Amino acid sequence: MKRVTIVGGGLAGCEAAWYLAESDIKVDLFEMRPEKTTPAHHTDLLCELVCSNSLRSNEVTNAAGLLKAEMRLLNSLIMKVADMTKVGAGSALAVDRELFAKKITEIIKSHPNIKVHVQEVTEVPCPPSIIATGPLTSDKFSNALGRLLKKEHFYFYDAAAPIVTGESLNWEKAFWGSRYGKGESDYVNLPFTREEYDIFYNELICAQTHPVKEFEKAIFFEGCMPIEVMAKRGYKTLLFGPLKPVGITDPKTGRQPYAVVQLRKENKEGTLFNMVGFQTSLKWNEQKRVFRLIPGMENAEFVRYGFMHRNTFIASPIYLNPTLEFKGEKGLFFAGQITGVEGYIESAASGIIAGINMKRYLEEKELISLPVETVIGALLRYITSSSAENFQPMKANFGILPPLEDFRSKDNKLKKQLLSERALKSLEQFIESKEVFAKKNNKIIY
Ligand code: FAD
Repeated sequence: MKRVTIVGGGLAGCEAAWYLAESDIKVDLFEMRPEKTTPAHHTDLLCELVCSNSLRSNEVTNAAGLLKAEMRLLNSLIMKVADMTKVGAGSALAVDRELFAKKITEIIKSHPNIKVHVQEVTEVPCPPSIIATGPLTSDKFSNALGRLLKKEHFYFYDAAAPIVTGESLNWEKAFWGSRYGKGESDYVNLPFTREEYDIFYNELICAQTHPVKEFEKAIFFEGCMPIEVMAKRGYKTLLFGPLKPVGITDPKTGRQPYAVVQLRKENKEGTLFNMVGFQTSLKWNEQKRVFRLIPGMENAEFVRYGFMHRNTFIASPIYLNPTLEFKGEKGLFFAGQITGVEGYIESAASGIIAGINMKRYLEEKELISLPVETVIGALLRYITSSSAENFQPMKANFGILPPLEDFRSKDNKLKKQLLSERALKSLEQFIESKEVFAKKNNKIIY
């Protein structure tokens, strides 16, 4: 069988390499560090966690916890080592960062089917190959990808606005409508009185922000200013920018509000909404505190907070199938943050799917996508089928799962419990029906 080339020894690349190696497929894993490093990595270890040591919630009633449970069912290397190296963090799963990366490096480097090459890859390799070079893909490789893809569908930075669930909005205040009443509207409007705007504005300009890294400063010059920076330019700046009220009439008062925040439908089902123009560097707890001052968002549930950081990702809705295979070439797969999933575990989970499908490609079997009732299936469906025009990376969250049929209760905890049960059951059934596990000595490895 052909050897598989994997570019990038991060969370996605290592998951894919391990799955294939355990399936007796030979892998060449290319990792450029320490020969060449990124602006955020500090070690020569594979799977280095560049920022927080937390992999987020471990509870299945949380989408990140459910994702972990799904990964464990899929025999994830990252979850295995995370469970081995965990440190106390309440209901979250946090790891000893160094031990975690050291252990994975040891497992990968000592695997008889994996050869690790310390080398920067500068051209897109021929299939069978998996590209998993992450948010800080090297410049030379980015250029090579730019030649493979159309440049305008390949992004080098990421400025995302928060996303909230539709059901958490206060529909007594929120109303549908486009500016000047043109056409059918996909926008929800949240109207302010002058007093409400004053309170919001004063909190926004004083809220705490994340420090911006040197290599990320260019983002602000690309016409993508954080909402809080824009607000600091003057009391009225937002009123002529993202909060402008012109052309909008509040049906409850029959008048134009003092200011309006617009939310745009984020998915086809209309269960998630993006806060238009609200890309931000505010700390997450500050986003929750300040943005909940917006009328109609008093109890908003945030499925993704806004952020601004350097992030290389491709327009997956254009280029990838939900199997993670590149539409332009069979046997070439993408995995990890470069596909537009966001976060450590999301990246690792996509690596498992790329590994599974690479094996199936080599065996000339039909490629798989997981059921959309699972977080992994829903996430990969989201990144490959959302609007390419407004495409932004996505984390695990319950809003991307299909709603429960006939669920009328307002009990959010019960809803999450049922969604989790449905996800795990459908994944178990799927695994049984498709033989997706690596087998060694005819035994399934858990
Ligand atoms: P990575 O883990 O980055 O792995 C990609 C690997 O490819 C790297 O080791 C890199 O050296 C290598 N590489 C790149 N180009 C080449 C090349 N040409 N040839 C060979 N090797 C190459 N997520 C969270 O969940 N929590 C956080 O706190 C968090 N903080 C972040 C902070 C920053 C500054 C950044 C940039 C991202 C952060 N993320 C965070 C996102 C996180 O990096 C990713 O979710 C995750 O590491 C992505 O996994 P990956 O496998 O796609 O990429």
